[in-house]
Amino acid sequence: MKPAPFDYVIPATLEEAIGYLANDDVEAHVLAGGQSLVPAMNMRMSRPELLVDLAKVDDLDFIRDESGSLQLGAMTTKRDVEMSPVVAHAQPLLHAANMWVAHPQIRNRSTVGGSIAHADPAAEYPAVALLLGAEFEAQGPNGKRTIPVDDFFVTYFTTALEEGEVLTKVMLPAMAAGTGWSFQEIARRHGDFAMAGVGVTLQLDSAGHCQNTRVVPFALGPTPVRATAVEEAINGETPSADLFEHACQKMADGIEDPTSDVHASVEYRRHLSSVLGARALEEAVDRARAAN
Ligand SMILES: Cc1cc2nc3c(=O)[nH]c(=O)nc-3n(C[C@H](O)[C@H](O)[C@H](O)COP(=O)(O)OP(=O)(O)OC[C@H]3O[C@@H](n4cnc5c(N)ncnc54)[C@H](O)[C@@H]3O)c2cc1C
Repeated sequence: MKPAPFDYVIPATLEEAIGYLANDDVEAHVLAGGQSLVPAMNMRMSRPELLVDLAKVDDLDFIRDESGSLQLGAMTTKRDVEMSPVVAHAQPLLHAANMWVAHPQIRNRSTVGGSIAHADPAAEYPAVALLLGAEFEAQGPNGKRTIPVDDFFVTYFTTALEEGEVLTKVMLPAMAAGTGWSFQEIARRHGDFAMAGVGVTLQLDSAGHCQNTRVVPFALGPTPVRATAVEEAINGETPSADLFEHACQKMADGIEDPTSDVHASVEYRRHLSSVLGARALEEAVDRARAAN
């Protein structure tokens, strides 16, 4: 299919882009890598009147390690993330999760900011952002603001970004020394969207008990979520397969508003999440032990 007719602009500055996006008379959308927006337009699920391409806006394409906090410009591509020694060193979890995103051709174009702003519940970047406690910088007609990840993802494909706002930067805090991590997902074919996924970070105290555990299942409901009941069940405990399996079974049974679609039923997604959760916890413990 072909998209409905639309106009296209490629501004040179962020202020100019915001000017187009903040015009109430025109339905204007940001164009980043176009890997989600253009297919949606071709299927006429999205009908913007104006595309505002950010490709020529300065200072939206960068990867910086600022005292351990990884700063990613919104127009940084997944390929840049994949190839970056800075990412591999500062945030290996992001590097691992990035490799689950689609195929090389798509990673060449698709952007960090596009994945966060698009807020597909099965996408890896929103889950990584929640797991690491990210913050997002946005700029709009009312100026610049920072949005914590806990306030950002609202529901399917919906974020806290307001009309006319552009996501400009993603900030991922460094993991504490000794943190173990894991990022697991299952898709029908490698590169497809996940049917279920789970990310974990945790530490071990001097007695070998789990602490500061974060568990984020995704592709199971409208947004990635913190599985706080699992986190509480595990913190303070000695890691064991029984503990993890039991906690993750409860997590799977307790998922609210689970997704069921042509790819996987609710029951299958629950099953996958409990298996992946236990696997991810075990792998995170192994990494934490190796790091101590
Ligand atoms: C075959 C295929 C497989 C895929 N598999 C996966 C996968 O496994 N995992 C995954 O996560 N993704 C997958 N994707 C999606 C891909 O990663 C998209 O590129 C990504 O979701 C959106 O990034 P983009 O830069 O292409 O954004 P675009 O498509 O350009 O934009 C997406 C949306 O975000 C908005 N937007 C973009 N940037 C900004 C910004 N800076 N500020 C405000 N709004 C903005 C746009 O207006 C639009 O509404 C797949 C895509 C395809 C075609």
